[in-house]
Amino acid sequence: MTLYLDYAASTPVDPQVAEAMDRVLRSDLLQANPAARHARGRAARACVEAARLDVARLIGAAGEEIIWTSGATESNNLAVIGAARFRAGRGRHLVTCVTEHPSVTAAFRHLATQGFAVTWLEPGIDGILPPEQVAAALRPDTTVVSVMHVNNETGVVQDVAAIGALCRSRGVLFHVDAVQAAGRERIDAREQGIDLLSLSAHKMYGPKGVGALYVSMDTARRVEPLLFGGGQERGMRPGTVATHQVVGMGVAARLAGEHLTADSAGIRLLRDELWTRLGDLPGVLLNGHPTRRACHILNVSVIGVEGESLLYGLRDLAVSAGSACASGDGEPSAVLRCLGRSDELARSSVRFSLGRGNTLADVDCAADRFSAAVAHLRRLSPATPG
Ligand SMILES: *Cc1c(COP(=O)(O)O)cnc(C)c1O
Repeated sequence: MTLYLDYAASTPVDPQVAEAMDRVLRSDLLQANPAARHARGRAARACVEAARLDVARLIGAAGEEIIWTSGATESNNLAVIGAARFRAGRGRHLVTCVTEHPSVTAAFRHLATQGFAVTWLEPGIDGILPPEQVAAALRPDTTVVSVMHVNNETGVVQDVAAIGALCRSRGVLFHVDAVQAAGRERIDAREQGIDLLSLSAHKMYGPKGVGALYVSMDTARRVEPLLFGGGQERGMRPGTVATHQVVGMGVAARLAGEHLTADSAGIRLLRDELWTRLGDLPGVLLNGHPTRRACHILNVSVIGVEGESLLYGLRDLAVSAGSACASGDGEPSAVLRCLGRSDELARSSVRFSLGRGNTLADVDCAADRFSAAVAHLRRLSPATPG
C-alpha cells in the first residue's frame, strides 16, 4: 500500500460528504432541476442554497456572494479573465505573481495576448511577496490584482489582508486563490479586503469537479461570464447546478470550518516532526519560508541527488515531485526556480502534503523511506552533499 502524503493534490472524500451526496443522488424528490419553479425544484434549490450558505460561512461571506463552478481552475479563469474584461473600460493593466497556480498564470498569459498589460511580481527567496512590492506595481490603469493565499507547492502564506487593504484603498479588484488555505488558514473575505476568491471542493475533503467563486455583492465588483446560456448564478455562470456536487461541497466546507483549529494544529505537528526527521539528513533543504507556511505542506530539495531516481526510490509514497509537475513536461518547478533553486535542486524537490488521515506512524514511515532512498542514491553517485 502506498502511503498517501499528497493532500495538496487532492483529499479523500469525507464519509459525511459521501453520505450527503449519496442521499441527494438516491432521493426522488431532489432529482429536479434546482432552477425549476415546481415543488421538487424548490426542494432541490433548498439544498443548493443551504450548501451555498455553508461555503459562504467558511470565508466570511454571504450566501448570495457564492457562485458555483466546476472547480478552482474555472473559478480562477472566471475571476481573472471575467474581472479584467468587466473593467477593461477603466484600464488594461493587471498585476499577479509568478508563483501563482497555472490556472491563474495561464489566464493572465491569455489576457496578455488580448491587449492587456500584465506585471509579473517575483517574491523573495523565502516565497513571500511583500505588500510594498504590490503597491509599487500599481498604476492608474491597474484594474485587477491576483495573489494566492497559500502556495500549493511550498505552503507559503501571503499577507492577503495587507494586499487587500492596499487594493481597496486604490480601487483595484483583488482576487485570491484560496484553494490551499480553505480549512487550514482563517479566511474572512470581507475583513481581508478580498473581492473575488476561489475554492475547490476536492482540496478540502469534498468531491472533484465542483468549486466556488466568491464574488462580492458590490456591483462594481462583478465579472463578465466566460460561458453563455441561462441566467444561473447571478448571470455569471450559466448551466444547471449539480445538486449532489454542491451539497458535497457544502458539507465539506462545514467540516472544514468545524475542524479548522484542531486539524491545522494536529497536521502541523506531524508536518514539523517530518521536517525534524528529514532536516537532520545531510544536504536536505527546506523550500519556502521557514515559518510562514500553512500546516500541511513540506517541500524539500536534496543536494546531489537526481530527481527521477529520487522519485523512483520513493515509489511507495504518494508524494509530488518537482520533476513530475502536473503537465508531466519534465520542466523543473517554476515556483522553486523563483525561490532561487537551481534547475537541478528544483528537479530533486519533493512535496509532502499531510491531511486528516495521517498519523505519527505515517511520518516515521515516510522519513525512514526517504532517508533510505537518499542514502541509497548517494552510495550510487559519488557526488558529496554540499
Ligand atoms: C488544485 C488547485 C487549483 C485547481 O483546482 P481544481 O478544482 O482542481 O481545478 C487551483 N489553485 C490551487 C492553489 C490548487 O491547489
